[in-house]
Amino acid sequence: MKLLTASVLALASATAAFAQDLPQASSQWFTDGQAALQEKLNRQPNTGRAKNVILFIADGNGVASNYMNRLWAGQQEGGMGDDYVQPQEAFPNLALVKTYNINAQTPDSAPTAGAMNTGVKQRFNLINLGENAIHDDCSTVAGNELTLFSEMMSDAGKSVGAITTARLTHATPAAVYAKTANRNWEDEVPADCSAQTDIASQLVNALETGVVDIALGGGARYFVPKGTATPNGGEGHRPDGVNLVEMAQSNGIQYVSDKAGLDATTNDKPILGMWTDSHASYEADRPETEPSLADMTRKAIDYLGQNENGFYLEIEAGRVDHANHDTNAKRAMIDGKAFSDAVALADELTDDADTLIIVTADHEHAIAMNGYCGRGTPIDGLCYDVAQTGIMHSDDLVLGDDGKPYTVVGYLNGVGSVMVEQADGKFTAPEGRPEITQEEAQDIDYVQQSLIPKSSETHSGVDVALYAKGPWAHLFDGTIEQNVIFHVMDYAVTAE
Ligand SMILES: [Zn+2]
Repeated sequence: MKLLTASVLALASATAAFAQDLPQASSQWFTDGQAALQEKLNRQPNTGRAKNVILFIADGNGVASNYMNRLWAGQQEGGMGDDYVQPQEAFPNLALVKTYNINAQTPDSAPTAGAMNTGVKQRFNLINLGENAIHDDCSTVAGNELTLFSEMMSDAGKSVGAITTARLTHATPAAVYAKTANRNWEDEVPADCSAQTDIASQLVNALETGVVDIALGGGARYFVPKGTATPNGGEGHRPDGVNLVEMAQSNGIQYVSDKAGLDATTNDKPILGMWTDSHASYEADRPETEPSLADMTRKAIDYLGQNENGFYLEIEAGRVDHANHDTNAKRAMIDGKAFSDAVALADELTDDADTLIIVTADHEHAIAMNGYCGRGTPIDGLCYDVAQTGIMHSDDLVLGDDGKPYTVVGYLNGVGSVMVEQADGKFTAPEGRPEITQEEAQDIDYVQQSLIPKSSETHSGVDVALYAKGPWAHLFDGTIEQNVIFHVMDYAVTAE
């Protein structure tokens, strides 16, 4: 027995010594790998109670979209991109998340955000109703309303915020405060539906009752009557004649419509801010009068952080999804960078000791990366060949078997389909794929090539990643169901 112990010890120390003696031990890759190992060995789980929870959701930003964003951000800083680390990618904990809905293999953004906000999977196209509710059927609302994480946090004395680059009444932010049989009932419900109100009305009600304390994003047209000008210069859309902006203001809520207004708000009354009539601008097109996602994040944390009991804040980069639907990869990656800038800021403004930060997506898209590209190939352009020597890609474009180059980023379906409708109504590609130049591919408005024709590219059911740090972040590991996110958040804020 003694002999065995000695030989095990000898074997262990021989293995430890062995790594240092390898011929590759002086390589930077090797020493970096050893440093990464040491960092993991030094890690201590945080088992304190979370005072604050910040849930970041980049809409439609699955693992492939995230890869694209990483390369874009790294290449913008002059690097190859592959080795770049986005702020959330430096977080210690990671899980893969299964995003399907109760009745949908490919999810939409309403039940996915709802799962994170209630702890149960939900049905396609409805928000925060139980499994017996039916989409578009108002009669199934009663008795199926779920209790929300925001309501629980508010009851526990915490403050709540929802910020987004989409309309505030759009699915992901709505999941913080709304319950509806149809995610599209943003400013009206069917005439015979008395069981619930429209989503915009639910938001103003949540601000008035104190369930939500700050809400920032786009979508003012759904708060203003038809025929009445919105604060953003467009026209209202509400058919019921109710002016929710005026109603909110008369109930003590600060209403702001641009960055200057947001900067001038005080921290003693709830804040409702909307910069646009529909979705806020893509980051690539955002005027200076409109706050960025990071600007909104700073304001929300400053405001919510006053509460000594803590807060729950959901932050959505909503337009990553929209650019992907348009197969306009460049705007998606620019919004992806704005998202990670907001993550970095939130991390900087909060304390890892008492703040659980979760960074995830609600679902993936039908997006895919082509190959075989050499290092440094611009992620927003054409695929360049691998060079035989050195590191950087060669000057040769990689060609398809049709002799034409292709972009790194592609989509399986979308508006840029190579199958074009002909005079006889059939979809064919008699000329084959269009030629693409690098200049065309890198244009901000470039639409990637895809196969199946679709006016709006679809989501996909592929897993998304979840990055986490702070109290109980280590509970995020392995492959989890999306509704588990709620359970970890809830455990973290109540842990003894
Ligand atoms: Zn979408």
